Amino acid sequence: MSSVRVAVLASGSSGNATVLEAGDTRVLVDCGLSLRQLTRRLAEVNLKIADLAAVVVTHEHGDHVAGLATLLRRYPMPVLATAGTLAALDLPEGVEAAPLQGGRAVRLGALELLPVATSHDAREPVALLAATDRCRVGLVTDTGVMTELLLERFAGCRGLFLEANHDPDLLRWGPYPWPLKQRIASRTGHLSNQQAQAAVERLAHDELEVVVAMHLSQENNRPELATHEIATPLRGARTQVLAAHHERPLVVELALSPTRHGQLHLFPPGNS
Ligand SMILES: [Zn+2]
Ligand SMILES: [Zn+2]
Repeated sequence: MSSVRVAVLASGSSGNATVLEAGDTRVLVDCGLSLRQLTRRLAEVNLKIADLAAVVVTHEHGDHVAGLATLLRRYPMPVLATAGTLAALDLPEGVEAAPLQGGRAVRLGALELLPVATSHDAREPVALLAATDRCRVGLVTDTGVMTELLLERFAGCRGLFLEANHDPDLLRWGPYPWPLKQRIASRTGHLSNQQAQAAVERLAHDELEVVVAMHLSQENNRPELATHEIATPLRGARTQVLAAHHERPLVVELALSPTRHGQLHLFPPGNS
């Protein structure tokens, strides 16, 4: 296996969809895009729906599942989600549903996926750590706080796909009604740029190659604000900082060089 590729097809409240790829294994994480948009954006990264082994759903909010039922009706594939999320989803009949449990890793071909609970106003939402035997990548969006559990689990990632939803001042003075502002800023809402910065401060290490700012609000954030905040604690490091887009894919490839740690045991059994 030569690399792990992450294709963020779309990120933000208008729709989320990401493909995790290692070897011949490709998994879709969330499906907040219409079938037409999903097909188009997959083609832009040289993939097609038939390449996907399964879809993992992080939680049941519309921006993560709007296109899920249509996708599954046309292209049946297994759905992996926590029991709470599965109960909140209206899956088409006959779809194979595999329950995920926080802290319990599952293997899908070359990828091992570890769901980790987030703090968000959904039934049983999770972030995901994806690992091969040589690389781990973290995907965490839709959480109001970076809990100690998330910080512990996401240590040692080579690639970090981290929510930077809003700038607190833009949110405060922006056009949203107060109840929505309060929801976003709450402990079960979304991470601000500053919260993302604090998380990066904790999670930075020598082999952190890239941090991608995810789930940026179109009204309450700007890509350059998010990347500036995130890059601040990384000054002097070789880590690249990027922002994911609403309207076009962003592809990150983590090439695997021989690791100086040898074979990593990524998710020790019994660790939940
Ligand atoms: Zn969302
Ligand atoms: Zn959400």
